[in-house]
Amino acid sequence: MSAPEPQRRVGQTILEWDHVTFGYGRTPVLRDVTLQLTSGELLAVVGPNGSGKTTLVKLGLGLLHPTSGSVRLFGQPVERFRDWGRVGYVPQRAGADSPLPLSVLEVVRSGLAGHLGLVRRPTAADRQRIEHVLEVMGIAELRTAPVSQLSGGQQQRALIARALVTAPQLLVLDEPTTGVDAAARAALRQSLEHLIRVEGVGVISISHDPEGFADLADRVVEVRAGRVVARDRADVEVRRP
Ligand code: ADP
Repeated sequence: MSAPEPQRRVGQTILEWDHVTFGYGRTPVLRDVTLQLTSGELLAVVGPNGSGKTTLVKLGLGLLHPTSGSVRLFGQPVERFRDWGRVGYVPQRAGADSPLPLSVLEVVRSGLAGHLGLVRRPTAADRQRIEHVLEVMGIAELRTAPVSQLSGGQQQRALIARALVTAPQLLVLDEPTTGVDAAARAALRQSLEHLIRVEGVGVISISHDPEGFADLADRVVEVRAGRVVARDRADVEVRRP
């Protein structure tokens, strides 16, 4: 973790949903949701499949527009926000099982594509950043390994590393613990803890699994019947099998 760290301001509001209502058809999926995420915080969004977790995040990233209410990202109305290097998105791991023989390093480097365009070669700073994220995610030794041959937890760490190469201040994880066993989950949790507590990244983790990262979360909210309700972490732990 030798790369110089940018100064982070912990406690800065990153994302705000303000009285947001949204429906794909006439029936609202979300009703009057008010929620904030600050830097240096992990917000776990839980709830069963179909409850509206993805919809909530898509509204937060401006991919959907509220029927009423508003969303601000880094203090700007999300529809005007353009600085997407500040946002890292890690999709569900389905795509990592690609038949292409891509190495961990190639996958992680591909996170720079939007910034480099098709022609520019990575700079020394880019390379330093790549090394840093490989180390933070604990996969430096796996750099030449084909991603398709890694375990679920290692693939997930490679995908998170790819999202981190632009040094985002907001990281969105979609079902990060699916297909990841308990030991690998602990390693993933440790890497995330560094990102959140030391680097001050704001993280949203959405999961249908109440175990998700609820124990690492500063706040757990549940999407239920169109509402977003705060959940006590103790409540989540009690419900574990
Ligand atoms: P979750 O992420 O919690 O599984 P989603 O946000 O994906 O839930 O979905 C919430 C509800 O909205 C579900 O009833 C789903 O069927 C519906 N929905 C999701 N996407 C669309 C869409 N593009 N068009 C119509 N309905 C949708």
